[in-house]
Amino acid sequence: MDLSLSRNQLELQGRARDVALREVAPGAAGRDRAESPDRGVYICLAEQGWMGALWPTTLGGSGLGYLDLALIVEQIANACVSTAISLAIHTCLASMSVYEAGDDAQRQRWMRLLASGGALGAFALTEPNAGSDPGGLTATLSHRDDRLILNGVKSWVSNAGLAEAFVVFASHDLTQRHRAITALVLEAGTPGLTLGPREPTLGLRSVDIRTVSFDNVIVPPDALLGKLGDGWPIILRAFDRVRVALAAAALGAAAGAVALGAEYAGSRRQFGAQIGYKQAVQTHLAESQMDVEALRGLVYRAAWLADQGQPFGLAAAQAKAFGARVANEVSDRMLQVHGGAGFSESQPIARIYRDVRAFRLLGGTDEIQRYVVARAMLEPHGVRIQP
Ligand SMILES: Cc1cc2nc3c(=O)[nH]c(=O)nc-3n(C[C@H](O)[C@H](O)[C@H](O)COP(=O)(O)OP(=O)(O)OC[C@H]3O[C@@H](n4cnc5c(N)ncnc54)[C@H](O)[C@@H]3O)c2cc1C
Repeated sequence: MDLSLSRNQLELQGRARDVALREVAPGAAGRDRAESPDRGVYICLAEQGWMGALWPTTLGGSGLGYLDLALIVEQIANACVSTAISLAIHTCLASMSVYEAGDDAQRQRWMRLLASGGALGAFALTEPNAGSDPGGLTATLSHRDDRLILNGVKSWVSNAGLAEAFVVFASHDLTQRHRAITALVLEAGTPGLTLGPREPTLGLRSVDIRTVSFDNVIVPPDALLGKLGDGWPIILRAFDRVRVALAAAALGAAAGAVALGAEYAGSRRQFGAQIGYKQAVQTHLAESQMDVEALRGLVYRAAWLADQGQPFGLAAAQAKAFGARVANEVSDRMLQVHGGAGFSESQPIARIYRDVRAFRLLGGTDEIQRYVVARAMLEPHGVRIQP
């Protein structure tokens, strides 16, 4: 396994760092305070080709790989975790589900638009009573005359307010659980599709997260991704993909926190010297830096496996779970290095500390990632565990 970056990847990483610093970082605190994303930021990412990172140029994408996307997401998260999460969900959950499961006509209809930055993708799977157990979803598809009718409520739909395409999951037979789940791609503004207000959240305040209701929605015949009942593998693949990107976002957030901590340790003086001279502060910094480098290895490995066309679900779950832990522990330590100032929203570490908590929840909770890891460990020993 060669994890050294190619010349193109080094160039991409440098460009992502520049764009993050120039276009994403400056408005991050303001977007967080306003609890509102800025469409201009996504347009700017689209101009770089990053909103369509993973699909081919013939469909408006830029044909990049997972390691490329990880490098981009890492740099964006370093500047603004919310923007990185929106990008991850748009590309890995929503858009790539349309690309992989859609037919030619659906790809032609959606992929250019989704790469343009003017239209985001949202992924509506979670429901008020179906989170870790998506097989228990209760949104229904029923037949009326010759039509399919969708009813249900989806919670925690990221990007909802900016989305043009909603990838939605519903069942035509609740007794069959995951075997009867179907994926649809619906246009914003479809009659019966309504958005709730933005969810008030602890962090990620510039991700537009809402509850979305589907009330007697007449499903257009060209909205089905595959056939009735084809939805479950689409969900599983989407989770594998997004865990790579979320792990990369956790890496960028943690690295950003370390940079802030080191800078603060060099500027804050107590007892007549910079606090960086104090061994306790050095330990906080050193432990955090080591965690970040260890995480980088897991993230790049998962992305590399995906690029090789090898199974990468386990590596993605490991990277995502470790990333969530590292981002939370590191941001906590770096807030500690800031002392009381770190508890003030005037310091960017406070926003990172709030934002990274989400990594332990979205894309599958900590507990579910550990189930995935333990399942792979126990299977060879004849122990077949269920979540
Ligand atoms: C910021 C954010 C953005 C999100 N964006 C989206 C989105 O765009 N689209 C979308 O569809 N969803 C989204 N989600 C929802 C997310 O996927 C769910 O929150 C997550 O899957 C957990 O589901 P839940 O919240 O219902 O928790 P629950 O499933 O109710 O879990 C509650 C607790 O029980 C634990 N638990 C549950 N089952 C088990 C088990 N079998 N073994 C051990 N522990 C278990 C969980 O780990 C957790 O600690 C988002 C969530 C957040 C926080």
